[in-house]
Amino acid sequence: MADHVRVVIVGGGVIGLATALHLVQSGEVQVSLLEAQHVGVGSSGRSVGIVETQYLDPFDIEMRVIGRRFVEGLAQDHGLRYTRNGYLRLAHNLDDLERYEASVETQKSFGIMDARVLDRAGLQRLIPEMRCEDRVGGLFGAGDGYVDGYLYTSLLRDIAVGKGVTVHQGTRLIGAEERRDGCLRISTNRDDFNADVVVNAAGPWAAAVGDLLGAPLPISNQRHQAVLVHLRSALAYVMPSVMDYVPGEGRDGLYFRHERADQLVAGLHNEQPIRDHEQGDAEAADLEVDWEFLSSVATLLSERLPGVGDAALGKGWAGLYPMSIDGQPIVGPHPYRTNVVCAAGAGGNGIQLSAAIGRLAAEWILHGTPSNPLSQSKWGAHRVVGF
Ligand SMILES: Cc1cc2nc3c(=O)[nH]c(=O)nc-3n(C[C@H](O)[C@H](O)[C@H](O)COP(=O)(O)OP(=O)(O)OC[C@H]3O[C@@H](n4cnc5c(N)ncnc54)[C@H](O)[C@@H]3O)c2cc1C
Repeated sequence: MADHVRVVIVGGGVIGLATALHLVQSGEVQVSLLEAQHVGVGSSGRSVGIVETQYLDPFDIEMRVIGRRFVEGLAQDHGLRYTRNGYLRLAHNLDDLERYEASVETQKSFGIMDARVLDRAGLQRLIPEMRCEDRVGGLFGAGDGYVDGYLYTSLLRDIAVGKGVTVHQGTRLIGAEERRDGCLRISTNRDDFNADVVVNAAGPWAAAVGDLLGAPLPISNQRHQAVLVHLRSALAYVMPSVMDYVPGEGRDGLYFRHERADQLVAGLHNEQPIRDHEQGDAEAADLEVDWEFLSSVATLLSERLPGVGDAALGKGWAGLYPMSIDGQPIVGPHPYRTNVVCAAGAGGNGIQLSAAIGRLAAEWILHGTPSNPLSQSKWGAHRVVGF
């Protein structure tokens, strides 16, 4: 692409900002980022912030290794608080354990040397308070951890601005028109912008923004909630992030992680494609917790962590997983309009996938192709949008 291509990114969440950062580092493009409200106001500021590589599919692992390395780099160079509490994915049967052994080897091939498979006794040693007799073991990544989603997003903004990205907060895209010279005229509630390329990184609003850009995207929103758990007494160790969900299993799984010595965060996770009754309108989304969720979490927590005694649920919140129809992100040029690049559909993994999505979206813009060819079939827009 020619020098100083004008890129307009729509969305000031982790995905838009990671894309902006990767683009501006090339020195070849002029990047403006439009954010309807303020940076981090969407899903990014409502996440639980877990960053981990304990997946099964090699591509899924590779993309998360990029995310973990990126966060580790920000912790080292920019003081991002990255709490390395470890991540444990429980195994429900011996087949899971076999797949976890394969994951450890795949992770090693990507340079992650601290993942290991634990048997039931190993689980019990790691978390003495946990009920383990109905689980056969787990996959444990000692160097995995979590960030505060809002602080992570704000740091990305600060670094991006420092490198030359112009961030326009309070600036909502309301229309787009293709001009004769092929450039897009972007209208907002404030100024107008000319763009050679527009990136749709609008998270739960990506379907609406896609329509405005003439580049529709099948993104639906799955409402998810999280809640603080106050323990009666402080734990003598740092509670890892524990995920009682195996990808592909179908039903919601309980997760919890350390927040403070006497506080955990808990929620229910799922990566299945959207079910109709779960869809949430990004504008009208109910961001309060509901009793059904609190009661499920209370039941599952008391079953899984009987050793912590009478814990009390505290403040909770809700947010949206922006989901594509197969649960995988959508990254790359839109089939209808190749000057619209998609960086959307990060689901419940947008914090840990932000670096990989941002890097791939930037590569599409800078080089016309991503460095990882597999990403085209796994995450390309063609798979979810017909020609
Ligand atoms: C409860 C919960 C827990 C989670 N936990 C984790 C976790 O532990 N680990 C993990 O990796 N992920 C987690 N996630 C998922 C993660 O938060 C999301 O995948 C990620 O934040 C999506 O980022 P985004 O940049 O695509 O969207 P957003 O952060 O929503 O950003 C999109 C932005 O676009 C802006 N926008 C919308 N329309 C317009 C417009 N017309 N013009 C300009 N701007 C516009 C919005 O204001 C918004 O700021 C969790 C999510 C939730 C809800």
